[in-house]
This record gives sequence, C-alpha cells and structure tokens, in this order.
Amino acid sequence: MSPLNPPNLPSGAAPSGSRFRAGPVELGGPGFVVMAGPCSIESREQFLEIAQAVKGAGATMLRGGIFKMRTHSHSFQGLGEGAFEIADEVRARTGLPLISEVTDPRQIPDLGEIVDVLQVGARNMYNYELLKELGRSGLPVLVKRAFSATVEEWLAAAEYVRVAGNPQVALCERGIRTFERITRNTLDLSAVAYIKANSDLPVIVDPSHGTGVRALIKPMCLAAAAAGADGILLEVHSKPATALSDGQQALTIEDFREIMRDLKTLLPALGRELHSLPQVPARAGLKPGAKPSLLFAAGTAIPSSGKP
Ligand code: PEP
Ligand code: MN
Repeated sequence: MSPLNPPNLPSGAAPSGSRFRAGPVELGGPGFVVMAGPCSIESREQFLEIAQAVKGAGATMLRGGIFKMRTHSHSFQGLGEGAFEIADEVRARTGLPLISEVTDPRQIPDLGEIVDVLQVGARNMYNYELLKELGRSGLPVLVKRAFSATVEEWLAAAEYVRVAGNPQVALCERGIRTFERITRNTLDLSAVAYIKANSDLPVIVDPSHGTGVRALIKPMCLAAAAAGADGILLEVHSKPATALSDGQQALTIEDFREIMRDLKTLLPALGRELHSLPQVPARAGLKPGAKPSLLFAAGTAIPSSGKP
C-alpha cells in the first residue's frame, strides 16, 4: 500500500478534518487542546491539587491514569477501580473532561461512566479486539502510536474503531523507539505533519512520553503546534520527585504555566488559538446505579520502582 494512500482515506480523497466532541471539548476543531495531569491518579488529594492547578493555568482537559500498562510487573499498576470515585469527584469539581487509559475491553462500561475520552496506550495499539470493542462503544477514543508502529499501521488501528461504527477517534504521537538514547523515545513530528496532510483524523502530541526529558517538553509542545497538531497531552505533577510513575518526565506546575504562556504567544502567529472551555456547572458524581464493579482492582499505591 502506498504511504500516500493511507488506509483510512478512500483513494484520491482530500482530507477534510473529522472533528468530534468529548464533553465540552472539540477535538480536531480550530482550538488547540491542552490535556494535562498526572501520569497516574495516586490519591484524592494528589489528583485534586494537580487538577485545580492545571485548570487554573488554562488546561482544556484533565489526564490521570487509572489502569496502567507498566513494562515491569513490580512497578505501580494504578489504583484501578479504587480511583473511580476520585476521578469522578475531581472531574465534577473542576468541570474538566477527563482522559484515561483503557487496558481491557471489560473496563469500558465502568470507565465510560467517568471518563470523556478513552485512551488506547502504546502497548495496546495492536490489540484489535480492544479497538473493535471501543468501536462498538461509541465513546471518544485516542489511539496512541505503538513504539514500533509505522504510520500506516497506526492509521489502520484507528480505522478498526471507525469500521466498528465509531467515528470519534483521534491519534496521539508519543514517540517511537529508535537507536537514539538521549531521549526515552524519538518524537516523530514529521508523522504529525504527514497525517494532517493525508488523513482526516485529529492528532494530539505527547511530548512527555515522546522525550521522557522534562527540559525538552516545552520546545516540543511549541514544535507540535507548529507541525499542525490539534493539541498536546502532558504529564504534570505537584511533586515530581515522589510521583509513583513517570516522575522523571513530569512537569512541575510552574513548568506547565510557562508552556501555557508560550503557547498563548505562539498560537496566534500560527493562525490558531487555545481551546477555551465554556463555563460548565459542576456535575454530579457517578450516575445512579453506576457503581463500578470490583473486578478490575489493579493494586494499591506502592512506591515507584523508577522503571516504566
Ligand atoms: C501514559 O499516557 O501514561 C502512557 C502509559 O502512555 P504510553 O501508552 O504512550 O506509554
Ligand atoms: Mn506516563
């Protein structure tokens, strides 16, 4: 298959830009979306503090891992269902829509009650049964690029969701594995520009996992905007040194404020602007009768091994 004829475009079709809403946020629209929050939800206090700080700095959406896909079985695996009430409360109190990773198709009904966008992690991009089930769910989905995925394979993964009946799909470039070791991954911004020119899917850039180096995240956020990305996904922590996962790449709150300030300066020069949220009233918590099951308890908070 020619790379100039990606599988999600009919031959000769011009990319038109498919936008969709996740709560009050439009993905793929004119506004540049900033998703920010901790790698993992660790406690109520930790998540609320970070959520309020990123909201105050102008974030459009909140991130927070509930179920984690860690390379090492001894690393913190996320609070699992123990984070459901925390996530629901913080989402309601801040009014920010929430993105969180789904690691198993059986989690979809419960997560669908408390999450606005379901993230497919890099390690699951090739999990076609998960993608098909997300397609049937009709919920907004963000498909991260696998470590070793070509652009065609990545587009094909998103197509699984669409073919199953769900047009609400966006992509996330989070770095690929190359021979380079100065960064955790190699952030492929050329893929972002390519997809914007050849596909109709919204693309988000994750410079946190894409570089793994705190000092490189700001320049890559600005470069992502210049490459045409629809938004960015950032890991922010109030105390990076004690974070239970990915502390080494977590931005401090002040780092995040600085990125927001620079984006506000840069975006107008690119003919873009930050996505602004309408004032939404605080929402109630979990829907009645929507008590998530105990099936997916993924563990309790244990100190990070420092490994992914
Ligand atoms: C994450 O977003 O915390 C994460 C684990 O990302 P990835 O799947 O890109 O490694
Ligand atoms: Mn992470």
